[in-house]
Amino acid sequence: MESVAICGSDLHIYKTGLSGGEPLGEPMIPGHEACAIVEGGDTPVPAGTRVAIEPAIPCMRCEFCVRGDHNLCPNHTFLGLPGWPGAMRERMVHPAHLIEPVPDSIPPKVVPLLEPLAIAVHASDLSHARLGQRVAVIGLGVIGLMIVRLMRLMGCRVIACDPVPERAAMAEEFGAERAINATGQDAVEDMLEWTSGRGVDVAIEVAGPNEAVRAATELAAPGARVLVIGIQPDDQIAFRAATARRKGLTIAMLRRSRNTLGRAIELYRTGQVSIDALATHEFPLDRAADAFAQAASYADGGIRTIVHVS
Ligand SMILES: [Zn+2]
Ligand SMILES: [Zn+2]
Repeated sequence: MESVAICGSDLHIYKTGLSGGEPLGEPMIPGHEACAIVEGGDTPVPAGTRVAIEPAIPCMRCEFCVRGDHNLCPNHTFLGLPGWPGAMRERMVHPAHLIEPVPDSIPPKVVPLLEPLAIAVHASDLSHARLGQRVAVIGLGVIGLMIVRLMRLMGCRVIACDPVPERAAMAEEFGAERAINATGQDAVEDMLEWTSGRGVDVAIEVAGPNEAVRAATELAAPGARVLVIGIQPDDQIAFRAATARRKGLTIAMLRRSRNTLGRAIELYRTGQVSIDALATHEFPLDRAADAFAQAASYADGGIRTIVHVS
């Protein structure tokens, strides 16, 4: 292993000791956004090749895997969740079909970010956005910022919001026409004004708190699509049913990535998506505890903290 990023889901376990609402029964190695060098094995990828890793390990046998919905496999395991030790270690064994060679142009500290980029690519597919449409992105962490860039690439006009000023500023660099440093009703009013009250064609929630999902339904134009990506801290989603019904909204939920890691790598390789600026902090493996503390504090404009394993 070369480098591993600390993701919001790792932080959730770090802060609460819970995974999927259940307490961890034993110590666990974290990490699923990772960069590795292939050492050997039953793979056409030559030893010494730098690779990105697909961390969800589907069964490849069930009905859902067979039809291509590997992200929905009910029998899957996942790196760094209970039952499967994560990537923050010197060596690991991983299925050959779940590694993807990366170009030399991408630095090892950025390779782990290809995994969230693959999720953002899947989100773009699920958005059904069309050329020239207006899109709102609520929440500007790693995946939110990546989605801003991808929606812009797809020919959409993008408005975005986040309570952290540095993140809102970054959204403009990533292609948002407007970025608002607010949440809740203030953000909704500003964003609606941007559409002269009409609403957006696609509203994408990547924040987590329930109010973000509610904001997405309020921002949506009649017939719009609302994409829910954030993980709600209380495991509940509530929004005004009448609002959603009157507008005939379509609500889509996102589950990880769907065979999109290769496309994410191509977007980076061809210079269409730059994600280097998102790797904001770096620590060696023997300071992994400091890395977690730093990432958990969201201090110093932190977006993604990277742990260099070797
Ligand atoms: Zn992650
Ligand atoms: Zn399966």
